[in-house]
Amino acid sequence: MQEEIIIIGSGPAGHTAAIYLGRAERKPLMFEGFMAGGIAAGGQLTTTGIVENFPGFPDGITGNKLMEQMREQALKNSARIVTETVLAVDFSKRPFSLTLEGGEKAEAKSIIIATGATAKTLNIPGSKEFWQKGISACAVCDGALPIFRNKTIAVIGGGDTAMEEAEHLSKFAKEVIIIHRRDKLRASLIMQERIKNNPKIKIMWNCVPVELKGSKFLESAILQNTRTNEKNELEISGLFYAIGHSPNTGFLGNQLKLDEQGFIITQPGSTKTSVDGVFAAGDVQSPHHRQAIIAAGSGCLAALECDEYLH
Ligand code: FAD
Ligand code: NDP
Repeated sequence: MQEEIIIIGSGPAGHTAAIYLGRAERKPLMFEGFMAGGIAAGGQLTTTGIVENFPGFPDGITGNKLMEQMREQALKNSARIVTETVLAVDFSKRPFSLTLEGGEKAEAKSIIIATGATAKTLNIPGSKEFWQKGISACAVCDGALPIFRNKTIAVIGGGDTAMEEAEHLSKFAKEVIIIHRRDKLRASLIMQERIKNNPKIKIMWNCVPVELKGSKFLESAILQNTRTNEKNELEISGLFYAIGHSPNTGFLGNQLKLDEQGFIITQPGSTKTSVDGVFAAGDVQSPHHRQAIIAAGSGCLAALECDEYLH
């Protein structure tokens, strides 16, 4: 069956697009993904605790609850949601065609891509071996596990995610050490302040892990000073990556213009991609300002531009 609009991805961008297109009586179909890019349907906010900066929730709201409510609102506005991951696309002819994980095909006149981004890890010895045996990229998901309780835990990175992960882990750990490759944090000032005021958290500047060691579980990291190249071993029971994200665009092949990191290039001030009728919204087209409200706003714009396109 040919659809008018298919939305790929189910974070704030995808759900906002679905709400607007549902209300425009376009009956959008969303493929929300099944652990696509390693993230549950609902997107990155499902991996965090309280969201304090999404307007309308003065006391904050958990990321899971916020995404459940967005999904419910999309369904109430007559969007249809299918729990499938899109594996490949064909934008060379019309209607556009999609291949799903189960091998089925779907066709649509227009497409909104809102597939977000996935946490990056380091390709160093021990990183794969101790993954989920002391190494994680989600403190909210794993921080309370017994292997991390009252232990020394490292967080790699200097952005907002690293601060948030460190703060969350400090509730369970004996101490949390933020390991950052520079001498200046990228995180917002309010997050930096919280970290400085938390007695359980300290920062090791100008170093990166180059090897992760242990027996059954992670036991230590070899850290290299980025200025002197000097190496030291740090005993840790846990390591959480917070070094940014990669856009979930692998399934697009070479069919859209992407930047050097793989984010979708859209026209300035628009969600229009290099293919007429294909729109991109949210983190997948926003390498710099990844925030839920921005993703939701660009999902709204994608819906309006897609509706205009179909007219
Ligand atoms: P995402 O939320 O990444 O969702 C994309 C969805 O698409 C995912 O569910 C994925 O599984 C699915 N998908 C991917 N590929 C496919 C495919 N091929 N087929 C089908 N589905 C697919 N922002 C804030 O404003 N406030 C915060 O407090 C905040 N906290 C954060 C905490 C953490 C730990 C992280 C990682 C981010 C945080 N952010 C926060 C940023 C915010 O989560 C993102 O900016 C926002 O979720 C991006 O929304 P999105 O819709 O673009 O994509
Ligand atoms: P960022 O890209 O902002 O930060 C990544 C950090 O990891 C940087 O400090 C970077 O160092 C470091 N890094 C990157 N690659 C490596 C590497 N190979 N080795 C060592 N260190 C590395 O990503 P975040 O995930 O922190 O944040 C993404 C977006 O999500 C931001 O817009 C952020 O504001 C938002 N967010 C908002 C939150 C909130 O508002 N509460 C919470 C969490 C995220 P360097 O600084 O040297 O480049």
